[in-house]
Amino acid sequence: MSKKTTINEIRLNLKKHDRSKRRSNEIKFVIIHYTNLQSTLESLKHLCNPAFKVSSHYLISENGLIFNLISTNKSAWHAGKSKWLSYKNLNRSSIGIELQNKGHKYGYETFSKKQIKSLLNLCLRLKKKFKIKSNNFLGHSDIAPLRKIDPGVKFPWKKFSLHGFGNWHKKKLNLPKDINLSKKNMRKFFFKNLHKIGYRYFSLNSPSFRDKYIIKAFKAHYNPSNKSIKIDKKSLKISHILANSL
Ligand SMILES: [Zn+2]
Repeated sequence: MSKKTTINEIRLNLKKHDRSKRRSNEIKFVIIHYTNLQSTLESLKHLCNPAFKVSSHYLISENGLIFNLISTNKSAWHAGKSKWLSYKNLNRSSIGIELQNKGHKYGYETFSKKQIKSLLNLCLRLKKKFKIKSNNFLGHSDIAPLRKIDPGVKFPWKKFSLHGFGNWHKKKLNLPKDINLSKKNMRKFFFKNLHKIGYRYFSLNSPSFRDKYIIKAFKAHYNPSNKSIKIDKKSLKISHILANSL
């Protein structure tokens, strides 16, 4: 017996946030966020107040209720300064989805089953409607790793990818046999892969303080059990698999 899925959606369409209209073929990405606020009510107040200069197309409460705040034919202010592949400042080219979660500020919570179920339903609808590529479902920390850590290590990226949203390291692939794993080479090999996947904000040839933020963002998405800010062998391998499965 299968239960029919219902999507509970509330449309608000905030007029004061309406800035730039866009064509549907400009939409290439879906960016996942968490609210970092105490409750759905707080998040609604925050996202509906133009004074805060943040907005999002959708907000999903812990119990799976979907709020449509801005029409998808308008840009929202959710991505901010950001980069992915050749795209910059992704507000115009993306749809933003906020997941209600207290976040690292008030106590990071596991995303509920109902919330993820609603997210999967919504993403399926958006993927079909705007013909969004599977690999273009990303986290805020992927496109703005120096500033953002959401949706964080508790977001179920593997499950999300199994439903057709986001890249994942499914295949087995060994590192090249002749690879030289000196610290310098390891860094170069890793960041070359990340560049191919889409990550930006680093230089291939010169290490800098930024490296740790990029490594952290990559691990939060693909290797969340590893908490160090150094490049470990598993992350190196994952980066190699992802870069070769595009
Ligand atoms: Zn965010």
